[in-house]
Amino acid sequence: MGEFVTRFAPSPTGYLHLGHACSAFHVWQGAQAANGRVLLRIEDIDQTRCRPEYETAILEDLTWLGLAWDGPIRRQSDHFADYEAILEQLRQRGLIYRCFRTRREIAAALPASANPDEAGFTARPLPASEEESRLARGDAYAWRLSLAAARDALGPRYQHLAYIDETDGTACSVAADPRPFGDVVLGRKETPASYHLACCHDDALQGVTHVIRGEDIREMTAIHTLLQALMDWPQPVYRFHALVLGPDGKKLSKRSGDRGLHAWRDEGKTPDDLRRMTGIS
Ligand code: GLU
Repeated sequence: MGEFVTRFAPSPTGYLHLGHACSAFHVWQGAQAANGRVLLRIEDIDQTRCRPEYETAILEDLTWLGLAWDGPIRRQSDHFADYEAILEQLRQRGLIYRCFRTRREIAAALPASANPDEAGFTARPLPASEEESRLARGDAYAWRLSLAAARDALGPRYQHLAYIDETDGTACSVAADPRPFGDVVLGRKETPASYHLACCHDDALQGVTHVIRGEDIREMTAIHTLLQALMDWPQPVYRFHALVLGPDGKKLSKRSGDRGLHAWRDEGKTPDDLRRMTGIS
């Protein structure tokens, strides 16, 4: 078996809950079974929501769970210049464009039921003169990846994007269609990176061979596959694990205030109890 490198990549926007513990158990279990390595990456590009105390708590929680990572921690906020350089490359290749539409304008352009952050949205680059005047006015904008330009750049490869899914233990090729996502945001005026860009860049840079993550982000793999093809980044193999659901049958989330791991710990639960609670034997 070749080298196996995976990663755990939490965002310090809150305390880790059972869902994260479940993901971490899967990641470390996968590495252990393959005699591989686990890297720890702190995905803190959203500086408005990330807080250092959450990062400290993440490290404490992983240590309590007995999950030790290999090598130094990569903190994305230390590498904005790297992401900016990729955006610049994409800009020079005509693959991204500035979109000045506000969230409200985008919502108005979509069907009422659509979530503006998820529904595929395609804007059109503004004529240069209009763009200049909006820049001069200091308007906010997002950098969007143009699907039309990506299709032109990749030629026939665009129709055959695919990734390897190893969820069931055997590798199978899955077709990846980025079109439902529209022209995704890869950066913003004030933040030169999005989750998609930073994540794919770092997976490539860090030599990640296997991405093990919740099945809630399976669909995003289409966007990642497209970025990897455009940037000629090596493509990891993907495995998706089942989620831990709350009593309401919905996925746990930091935003909905699901209990942090420290609360379970204070209650006397052990890491083995958490393994059982998350369905890991
Ligand atoms: N920062 C992302 C999260 O916490 C990472 C997901 C991933 O790429 O595996 O959901």
